[in-house]
This record gives sequence, structure tokens and C-alpha cells, in this order.
Amino acid sequence: PAPEPEPERRPGFFGRMFGQTEEPRRILDDAMLESLEEVLIQADMGVETALRVTANIAEGRYGRRVSSREIKEALATEIARILEPVARPMPLYPSRPQVVLVVGVNGSGKTTTIGKLASQFRAAGKSVVIAAGDTFRAAAVEQLQVWGRRAGVPVLTAPEGSDPASLAFDAMTKAQAEGADLLMIDTAGRLQNRTDLMEELSKIVRVIRKKDPDAPHNTLLVLDATTGQNALSQVEIFRKLADVSGLVMTKLDGTAKGGVLVALADRFGLPIHAIGVGEQIDDLAPFDPEEFARALMG
Ligand code: GDP
Repeated sequence: PAPEPEPERRPGFFGRMFGQTEEPRRILDDAMLESLEEVLIQADMGVETALRVTANIAEGRYGRRVSSREIKEALATEIARILEPVARPMPLYPSRPQVVLVVGVNGSGKTTTIGKLASQFRAAGKSVVIAAGDTFRAAAVEQLQVWGRRAGVPVLTAPEGSDPASLAFDAMTKAQAEGADLLMIDTAGRLQNRTDLMEELSKIVRVIRKKDPDAPHNTLLVLDATTGQNALSQVEIFRKLADVSGLVMTKLDGTAKGGVLVALADRFGLPIHAIGVGEQIDDLAPFDPEEFARALMG
């Protein structure tokens, strides 16, 4: 039988730019710094962050001979240093239920992430209730029901077009009555009318606070890594619409654009709780800055 083909090793941006092999030592000069900046920007790190990272790399090395491995390792260290403070799992609170409000634009992966999280919490022995708060999108509600079945978690729904806040209130009442550990609330992601969306989100918050003044305990913003720098503007927009407490970055499988995470960490300092690495229920991983930085370097 033919030997198994070698698994393809997809080089990260550094690998693509500088090759995988050890190069002869080159002088770290302006030209090298410029090409470093360029690869960082290409990897979606954003200009500001790219400039700062390369400036830090240059410190103590400028004009010296360096190997490509030294630069690669220095970059990984520098990037991990930026990511380290934001890599934090979602904090858990003793409230019953602790409420997780999930926000983000349509298509970012909210439904999928809720399903994956619900499954993880179930596996940890916690009881979970999901509220399908995007009542205007029938497809979204159906999709959430599919995920609920997969995760073994009840999904509360309301008639199409009905008030999401009223559903949230009912879900809160039910979750409290059942002593559920977690209530996860999906929300609409229509940015076309931001005033409406803001009103909708703040009404949800208002009504659940009638039942628990500390709720929501977490407000997760779900971002799609493949949207690159758009993720930055989405954080800015959603921070105005809701009290975002942490991020989940989806679709980090199959994108070379993961650098946006570095830009996000650098710019906002919001905790990154988890990353989506596929479409299956187990494809939600804790965010490991060291591993991520190395993978990004390729
Ligand atoms: P929502 O509109 O924000 O609720 O987004 P969905 O959860 O419906 O996700 C939109 C699409 O992205 C679906 O096709 C998902 O399967 C896909 N998706 C979500 N998360 C990931 C991920 O981490 N990796 C990949 N490859 N696809 C994802």
C-alpha cells in the first residue's frame, strides 16, 4: 500500500513570508522591519499594533545580525505578551441562574457558539436553559433548537416577531424556578437599525434585572475572525449597544487572518474567553495565547 501522505503543514504568515528553513543571518535594518510590518498587517494585526510589535522586536536588535528563527521567536513572544492579559475563561458566578447574554452581528456564529457553550456546561454537570431571543428570524430560532437538541438543553422560544424582552423575562422566571445554573440568551444581530437594536438589548437587560439586579453576569460579543479588521469596528459598535464583558472569536479554523485577535487585545483589552475552531459541537477551545502566537507564526 502507498504510504500515508504527509499531513500538509500550512505555514502561518511568517512561514509564507520568510520560508520555513533557517536562513543565513541577516542584518536587522529598516528594510527588514518594513517587511515585518507588512506581514503583520497582512495577517490583520492592524497598522498600530504591527508598528508597535516591530518596534519592540527592533529594540536591542537593530543593526545586529539575526536569524529568521530568532525573529520568529521574538515575534511569537511579543504577540503572546499582548494576548496573555486577555486570555481568560468566562467567569462563573454563583447566581442561579447566571445569565449570559450573547450579542453579535448575524452570521458571526452566535447560535453555534451558544450550542457549543451549552454542551460544555452540560458536560461539566451544569443545568442550562437557552432563550431564542432573535424572535424576528425564524431560521435562527430553528437553528438554535437544533443546537439545543445536540447539547441536550431546553430552548425557550416565542412566536415570530414577538418581544424578545418578554421571552427573556419568561426564560428568567423559568430558569429561576428550576434552579438552573445558566441561562443563555441569544439576541438579534441586525445592525441596520442600531437604535432599535440598542432599545431591544437594553429592554432585555432591564427586564432580567427585575429578577436579578446582577444580571446579565456576562455579555459575550461573538466575532467572526474572517471579517478581519471589521471585527474591530464591531467591538466599537456593540460596546455602545451593550455592556460587553468578553469576546468569543469564531472561524479561526481555516483563516490566516487570526492576527485581528492581537489587534483586538491591544486596542480594547477585553477578555477573550474562547475561540471557535470549526462547525462541530466540540469545536470551541479555550484561548491559549502561547499556542495561538506560535500557530500564527507558522
Ligand atoms: P449567527 O447568525 O451569529 O447565529 O451565526 P451561526 O451560529 O448561525 O453561524 C453562521 C455560520 O458560521 C454557520 O454556517 C456556522 O456553521 C459557521 N460557524 C460558526 N462558528 C464557526 C467556527 O468556529 N468555524 C467555522 N468554520 N464555522 C463556524
